[in-house]
Amino acid sequence: TQVTLPEVLESTCERYPERSAVYFKGMQMDYQTLTERVRRFAAGLRDLGIEKGDRVGIMLPNCPHFPIAYYGILQVGAIVVQINPMAVPAELEHFLGDSGAKAIVVFAPLLPVIDKVAQAASLKKIVVELPPSGVTYSGNNILFEALFASGESLPRVPLSTDDIAVLQYTGGTTGRSKGAMLTHGNLVCNAFQISQILKASKDGEAEDDQDRILTVIPLFHVYGMTVCMNMGIIDGSQLIMLPRFDRDEVLETIRDAKPTLFPGVPTMYVAVNAHPNAAEYGLSSIRFCLSGSAPLPVEIIKEFTAKTGSTIMEGYGLSEASPVTHFNPIDKQKPGSVGKAILHTESKIVDLQDGKSELAPGEVGELIIRGPQVMSGYWNMPEETENVIRDGWLYTGDIAYRDEEDYYYIVDRKKDMIIAGGYNIYPREVEEVLYQHPAVMEAVVIGVPDAYLGESVKAVVVLKANASLTAEELNAFCRENMAAYKVPRLIEFRDSLPKTAVGKILRRTLREQELAKTA
Ligand code: ATP
Repeated sequence: TQVTLPEVLESTCERYPERSAVYFKGMQMDYQTLTERVRRFAAGLRDLGIEKGDRVGIMLPNCPHFPIAYYGILQVGAIVVQINPMAVPAELEHFLGDSGAKAIVVFAPLLPVIDKVAQAASLKKIVVELPPSGVTYSGNNILFEALFASGESLPRVPLSTDDIAVLQYTGGTTGRSKGAMLTHGNLVCNAFQISQILKASKDGEAEDDQDRILTVIPLFHVYGMTVCMNMGIIDGSQLIMLPRFDRDEVLETIRDAKPTLFPGVPTMYVAVNAHPNAAEYGLSSIRFCLSGSAPLPVEIIKEFTAKTGSTIMEGYGLSEASPVTHFNPIDKQKPGSVGKAILHTESKIVDLQDGKSELAPGEVGELIIRGPQVMSGYWNMPEETENVIRDGWLYTGDIAYRDEEDYYYIVDRKKDMIIAGGYNIYPREVEEVLYQHPAVMEAVVIGVPDAYLGESVKAVVVLKANASLTAEELNAFCRENMAAYKVPRLIEFRDSLPKTAVGKILRRTLREQELAKTA
């Protein structure tokens, strides 16, 4: 696939000009309109002085402006810097300063956050209003739609598949956030790789039917960017966009707009499971619910299938790999596994200590990956790049094993492993057991400082509505179902857990709260 992202959009527009590309709050935009707006937006950017290789931020929730901005930036040859709309000023300062962005496309209510950062004065702010307020902007503040007016002529910027398309900052659930440089080649390949797998689930004639993708995971996150937006655009699918995850709204959208694909994260499926009559919303018409980005406890899949008649297919990936590298084959899924390495992707498990010796099935080590979707490196961080890409292999930092049939199982992140009294404990293993308790809705396990053991195991648990359970009862359940050294010494019940914008449970926040208590 020697094509760039703007070429992908142009080709889809040629094939399906009249197909609906985006559905958002009752509004439709077809591929012809999307493509024309992208061209004009690109011309507008050029008139603002944006040139090939310049960085332009996008700080937007899911909305129709997102693909216009994203593909428009790429079309002038510039690089998209993906920015979480919930970023606080210190994070924003890092994204803008590190990338050296010249402009940012920003949701109007976020302007005050931008104005707090050092770069604000020189930055061009292209403001998205939803709904339009009629305010006129001046100086460095420019209304999004004003870019459409500035010129008709489409900039012809020569692009190659090796050009960087996106700086995808790693979530920073651990440490300083690094900008993964993803090229046009990386991103187009990954979208094709996933599209191929999902197409195989359609029967011959239906292959050209339009898919409708429930786009509720955020597009500024690598998973939504590739699996919803870029894959959708490659296939001429409709993106059914929702700006945030609200369970009832998601279920109503499924009932009314009938998506065929639902890329989600485990916490979303937990929320659906907790609904008293999820079955009434026709989830069984979804061809696939996909899960990635965090471990999917087997119990959640079972409950989901029993309640909705739909199935969840798990995959795995990371920002550094555009992101998808593993997926369950559709004809043979193994719950608990992230599946096999996808097309044109190699993966191995290597020894944790030497980082080289390949391990046999069943042996636990670090997962490493090689493939066309692996980033070219981190922006401005050659040392960090050398740490994670060695001899062409991407070191994921995830501990995993494979089985005899080459299905992979993620045990945990290297950095989340708890060492208590000399024992290695993988939080995920303990969490799987906690999820088996019928009263438990969500559970997360962290290591907390312990004067005697070094670290000890703590579980933070959210109970299902109307369920009651004491710490003693849960402790007894754990003692029956896991080795004594893994049993959480501390159990805390909460009403909810802190989560990232994509819905990952924020272990870091929980650990910091623990440290603050002992300080
Ligand atoms: P950071 O890497 O900076 O801590 P992040 O979690 O946001 O931040 P991402 O690139 O979004 O970074 O996430 C990639 C990680 O998510 C993987 O390395 C892995 O630990 C985890 N992950 C992704 N899919 C799965 C899965 N199916 N099962 C378990 N873990 C997963």
